Amino acid sequence: MTSTAAERLPVGAWDSHVHVFDSTLGPFSPSRSYTPAQAPLSQLLDFSAHLSVGNTPSNLVIVQPSPYGFDNTILLSLLKAAPSYTTGSVRGIAVIDIDKVGEAELMSMHELGVRGLRLNVQASGHAVDVEAVQSLMVKSAWLIKDLPGWKLQIFAPAYIWNDLYDCVHNLPVTVILDHLGGLKGSSKLSRDSPHGVQQRGFASIVKMAQESKVLVKISGLYRASTEGKSGYSDLEPIIRTLAEKIPDRLIWGSDWPHTGEGANRLDRNLGVIEPFRVIDNELILENLRRWVGSEETWRKTMVETPAATYI
Ligand SMILES: [Zn+2]
Repeated sequence: MTSTAAERLPVGAWDSHVHVFDSTLGPFSPSRSYTPAQAPLSQLLDFSAHLSVGNTPSNLVIVQPSPYGFDNTILLSLLKAAPSYTTGSVRGIAVIDIDKVGEAELMSMHELGVRGLRLNVQASGHAVDVEAVQSLMVKSAWLIKDLPGWKLQIFAPAYIWNDLYDCVHNLPVTVILDHLGGLKGSSKLSRDSPHGVQQRGFASIVKMAQESKVLVKISGLYRASTEGKSGYSDLEPIIRTLAEKIPDRLIWGSDWPHTGEGANRLDRNLGVIEPFRVIDNELILENLRRWVGSEETWRKTMVETPAATYI
């Protein structure tokens, strides 16, 4: 890695989307849709320090990854141990069975630093059922609405936000839209469908953000574009427009260790380890710094908005 981008993650920055996979800490779920490689905490801290000014890890939001299912044991132990491995803040986003969890369990998660629930809607590669997503969102939102600072986090294709606009509008909690809200660069859209800021879902996402109902996470760009060599430059018009229209509603996540593509998982053998993607994070950060524009919006995206989000 070069040192140029290391100057670009400011002091106090938040990486709002990372995972840890470590078989020495506990087993994967037998019903997982894929088996990832190992990504222990020590590697995460090295990665984060390397991208950050002063070579110390940024604040981190550890997101429960789908291979652990509803078992948040490892996430909670990483939150609990945080003071022993970083001077920054560490928060968690859990995945739970909402029909089985009790209030006491949610409160104890809160005390350890969990600040929201992730709803998995497309990890397995199947098509998305909008009504199922809607009912899961509503139930989950009402379950967590009194927990201070808790939010829902969802990765879904952008077009479903047209159908879910009214639902989100009436939710009692904020929704974090993962991976650019599912928006895609031209390299991932068919020729005859509208591209860029004209694509389906874009206007709904912007409107929901302007109404303070959602935050858009700039993350997982490789899920939205195949243009890795240029740092996903077909996403430039989308990210520039988001920075212009909703500068107060953006956060950033590296999505380290960059798990593979859900779409390829339907026939996968769980005995085969799915490799992580090799991602040029410094090139991504260089591009993002330029596309986001003003220093003020950059600071909001990297520092101020996530700090206010993961209280
Ligand atoms: Zn992820």
